[in-house]
Amino acid sequence: MHNEKLQDVGEFGLIRRIQRQVGGGDHLVLGIGDDCSIQRQDNSWELLTSTDLLIEGVHFNRQWISMEELGRKSAAVNISDIAAMGGRPKSLFLGVACPGDIPVDELESFSRGFVAETNAYDAVLAGGDTCRSLGPLMISVTVQGEVESGRAIRRDGAEVGDAIYVSGTLGDSALALQQLLAGKQPNRYLLARHNTPTARVALGRRLVQEQLASSMLDVSDGILSDLGHILEASGVGAEIELARLPLSDEFRAALQQDGSLLDLALAGGEDYELLLTSPLKNLSEKTLSSVDLTRIGTICSQPGLQVKNQDGSLYRCSRGGFDHFG
Ligand code: ADP
Ligand code: MG
Repeated sequence: MHNEKLQDVGEFGLIRRIQRQVGGGDHLVLGIGDDCSIQRQDNSWELLTSTDLLIEGVHFNRQWISMEELGRKSAAVNISDIAAMGGRPKSLFLGVACPGDIPVDELESFSRGFVAETNAYDAVLAGGDTCRSLGPLMISVTVQGEVESGRAIRRDGAEVGDAIYVSGTLGDSALALQQLLAGKQPNRYLLARHNTPTARVALGRRLVQEQLASSMLDVSDGILSDLGHILEASGVGAEIELARLPLSDEFRAALQQDGSLLDLALAGGEDYELLLTSPLKNLSEKTLSSVDLTRIGTICSQPGLQVKNQDGSLYRCSRGGFDHFG
């Protein structure tokens, strides 16, 4: 169809079309479609690469985040894609397109935050590009990392009967954004969850080293959408139990005022937690004690994703996951 608009096919429809134009390469173990590409090397490690854009007005608003925090967040969300494969980050590359009137000290604050965050994960800023933008501030980050050959935790390994786990808590970042959009000031905890997320690198590394996960990704668009990617890649379905979703005290407090906020934990986005499947049913209690993982559901053979209320009835989420063009 010639007159089809981007809104009609959505972000993921466009990516599928690009994917169809691309052939494989001998050096590529995995190309488009996962959190990172995987490239063979002449040693026992594979090279992981991922790239992300952050655009002012789309991904951030300078009123609500300091430039230093924006630098930290730009590094962390990219490193999160390395964590999502179970890898360790090594080098980051930073492209910045700046409006000419931004004060230099703000850009220095940005790079200070970016470098500090990068170094906190034992990675380094290794290059980039800088140019003028006639519109918004635009940030492009590429990260390279590595993982033991054959051990990367991909999206296509979930099997029927696997348990589904998620790290940390869900919905905090989306709740903070919703409050900011409504002109309210989120409390410190919620704002930090939105402005300075943490990449779960150490957890990803443990899962690889102990070979505990069958599939994994990081939650950037909400678990409904992101679990959907695992289901599609693995050719399976899933059931999630609403009552098991891990929620922070701050999120629960807001939920008491407005029950509809629960959908932010399912489809809010920007959690940057790890969502994984494992054949083991009790990862958190025994195998990975001290790790912050909650079991939220099970992989099943029936296609699709069902969210169940405590009484077994079906829950309908009123939001779709985040799609840039949806
Ligand atoms: P993530 O949320 O983990 O960053 P995305 O949903 O942005 O992943 O992208 C899904 C997959 O599509 C990734 O493998 C990514 O590299 C690939 N991708 C996205 N946009 C493009 C593009 N314009 N060209 C090629 N590959 C793309
Ligand atoms: Mg990802």
